[in-house]
Amino acid sequence: MLIESKLPDVETTIFTIMSKLAADHHAINLSQGYPGFNADQGLLDLVTTHMRLGNNQYAPMSGVPILRQRIAEKVRLETGIRYDVEDEITVVSGATEAIFAAITATVLPGDEVIVLEPAYDLYVPVIKLAGGTPVFVSLNMPDFSVDWEKLKSAVTKKTRLIMVNTPHNPGGYVWTQEDLDNLADLVKDKNILVISDEVYEHITFDGRPHLSLMTHPVLRERTFVCCSFGKTFHVTGWKIGYCLAPKELTVEFRKIHQFVTFSTPTPFQYAISDFIQDPDTYLSLPKFYQKKRDLFCEGLETTDFKFTPAQGSFFQLVSYKNLSDESDLVLAKRLTTDYGVACIPISVFFQDKTDHKILRFCFAKNDSDLFEALNRLLKDPIF
Ligand code: PMP
Ligand code: GLN
Repeated sequence: MLIESKLPDVETTIFTIMSKLAADHHAINLSQGYPGFNADQGLLDLVTTHMRLGNNQYAPMSGVPILRQRIAEKVRLETGIRYDVEDEITVVSGATEAIFAAITATVLPGDEVIVLEPAYDLYVPVIKLAGGTPVFVSLNMPDFSVDWEKLKSAVTKKTRLIMVNTPHNPGGYVWTQEDLDNLADLVKDKNILVISDEVYEHITFDGRPHLSLMTHPVLRERTFVCCSFGKTFHVTGWKIGYCLAPKELTVEFRKIHQFVTFSTPTPFQYAISDFIQDPDTYLSLPKFYQKKRDLFCEGLETTDFKFTPAQGSFFQLVSYKNLSDESDLVLAKRLTTDYGVACIPISVFFQDKTDHKILRFCFAKNDSDLFEALNRLLKDPIF
C-alpha cells in the first residue's frame, strides 16, 4: 500500500533517540527532561486512595469539578486573575495535548503561525498538520530573549497565532514585564491569538518571577495558557495538565479535546486536587531546583564548557563553540557512548538544524547522579 505521509519530514524525536542510546550504554540520562527521583509519597498515596474509593470511571470531559475549582483558586492566589471554573479551565492529558488542541482548534489552512526558535519540537508538526505555515523568528543569542523588531516584521495579515514559551525550553529564558507589554502592543487590535507554553511556570531562579501571559489584560483575552502537573509534581508519566483560556476560545478548544482524549485519568485528577491545596507543594520548587542548578553549574566550572546559569526550566545549556567543530549531534552521542553522560544537541530545536555548538543537560536528577555525571565529564579531555 502506498501511504502518503502527512508529515514526511518528521522523525522519531531526539528525546526517544537519546534516552534509548543512554539506556543501551548505561549512561546517566541528562537528555530527556524528566525528574530522576520520585514524587511526594503523599501524592502517590492519594492516587491509591482515590482508586480504592472507586474514582475509576470517565471523568467529565472538561475535568473533575473539584480540580478545576482548585486550579482556579491556585491561579487567583498567585496572580489575582480569575478564570471561570465551568467555561475557562480544561484538564488535559499533558501540555502536549493542550498545545495540540489549541493549535488545531484555531489554525486554518493558509494561516501563518509565528514560532520563536529554537522551539520545542512539538509545535511545528502540529501547525503543519492543521494546514498552517510556520514563520520562524530566531531568538537573540546567547540569552534566548525576543528580538521585538524581528518579531514585529514577521507579522502579516495572515498571522493567526504566536507561540510563546516561558520559561523557555531549551534556552531557560524567562519573560519579563517588558516582554509581555511588547507582545500586547503587537497583537492588540489584531486578530492574532497566542499559545503560551508555561509548563515550567514554577521553575525560575535567582528570585526571578514567572510572569504568566494571563496577567496582561490584552493577552489574557486571546491566550491559551498551557501548564503541566507533570513538571510541577515530578510526575511526567502521568500526562496531566490544564489549559486556561477565555470562554470563546475554550469552546473551540474542547471540540478538539473531546475527540483526542475525551478526558484525563480520574484518580490522578482527584489526587492532584487534594495535593494542590497546600501551596508549598509547588511554591517550594524554585528553591529545590535552584540548588540542583547551582550544584551542576559549580561542577561545570571545572570543565571547558562555557555557560550562563539558566534563568528557569530544569535545563542547563553549555557551549563548546571555541573548542571544536564537531557537530552537536555527534558530540551528544559521543558523550553518551564514551563518557556515559547523555544530553540533547539543541540544533534539533531549529527548523534548519542550525548548529550553535550548544548542548542541553537536564539537572532534574538526584544529586549523586549529577556529581557522577560531572566526574565522568572530567575523566578524560573531551576535545
Ligand atoms: N512544552 C515544553 C516546553 C516541554 O518541555 C514539554 C515537555 N516536557 C511539554 C510542553 C509537554 O508537557 P507534558 O509532558 O505535560 O505533555
Ligand atoms: N519535554 C521533554 C524535554 O524537553 C521531553 C518530553 C518528551 O520526551 N516528549 O526533554
